[in-house]
Amino acid sequence: MKVRIQVIIEDDDGQVLDSHDVFSFQRKHFQPDQVGLTLAEAKGSLYGIQETVVHHQVDEYLQEQRSCPTCGQHCRQKGKHTIVYRTLFGSFHLPSPRFYRCRCQSHSHGPRSLSPLAQLLVDRTAPELMFLETKWASLIPYHATSELLADVLPLDHAVSTAVLRGNVHKVAHRMEGELGEERFLFITLEENADQSLPDPGPPLTVGLDGGYVHSCEQPNRQEGWFEVIVGKSLTAEGNAKCVAFVHKRDSKPKRRIFEFLKSQGAHANQPGTFLSDGGETVRNLQLYLNPLAEHLLDWFHVSMKLTVMGQMNKGMQKVEARDLINDVEKQLESLKHHLWNGNITQALRLIDYLQLLLKNDTLSLERKKLLKAVREFGGYIATN
Ligand SMILES: [Zn+2]
Repeated sequence: MKVRIQVIIEDDDGQVLDSHDVFSFQRKHFQPDQVGLTLAEAKGSLYGIQETVVHHQVDEYLQEQRSCPTCGQHCRQKGKHTIVYRTLFGSFHLPSPRFYRCRCQSHSHGPRSLSPLAQLLVDRTAPELMFLETKWASLIPYHATSELLADVLPLDHAVSTAVLRGNVHKVAHRMEGELGEERFLFITLEENADQSLPDPGPPLTVGLDGGYVHSCEQPNRQEGWFEVIVGKSLTAEGNAKCVAFVHKRDSKPKRRIFEFLKSQGAHANQPGTFLSDGGETVRNLQLYLNPLAEHLLDWFHVSMKLTVMGQMNKGMQKVEARDLINDVEKQLESLKHHLWNGNITQALRLIDYLQLLLKNDTLSLERKKLLKAVREFGGYIATN
């Protein structure tokens, strides 16, 4: 059989204005790879439909624009140009005439001639194509994005990685421009108590952590480190979203986190639980974002420090008495238990006790190291 795809354009009253054969294909045997449309046929049909529709739209628009809005006279044409417009389903060379302004408008100010199409399609890429290009280019490498889009869309040639990179930067700059001003305090207690706000529902859980990344362009391992803050927020339904930024370079870190939480549906009366490693940078970022927020130390960081101290204790076997090592081990276990259950007073008392236990007039190197770790851990827990 032969399949023909035809586009029929009608006016609002159903009158046929135009009809075009845009694509055809044949089928002989019913085989798995012949069921429905192949990718190439789908691309061919889409391109054909798009070409017909776009050219019809452009013709109609130019007809309209050519008539003077005041007296209805046809404006004289000054010159003929072509513009290339990239859409999801193909790039098209479109006629873009320049028209003189009508004589009846000569008294008003402004340019003597206009190119209506070129002025309407300022960005020569359709918004939806720009969206897809930018979305994929921000998730996977530029060359993979280029190949992916060329695979599924009827593009005459793959988009260059330079164009993709330029688009991503353009969109990023625009988004940055839309970010509101930085503030010290985001939600006041009054805003928080606003009775007209909807029921906030269960709290959001937000984890923030910082890590150091080494720039690949630096000459050695000492220079060029920068701190990246990464956050993840989780709703009660389990929807997660991530945010990341370079701490020292970002001039609006709090605003960024605030907008990030807003995009997760957080209202001014939203309770939230903030988890962090207790580091100063991250803790300061979370402060004053929400008066209802509860700030917790992320268990991961506490447990990692405890594990390290446990290993240091085991490492003392060759130089220290069996009894001391067993006692320290027991106390560390108990400390972990108290911290997990939030018994801070007990935990701090145990840390003091561990320090007494380890102190001595002459200390082995291993024991000195462990004592230092216990002291630092005590400071860490007390600060937080
Ligand atoms: Zn006129």
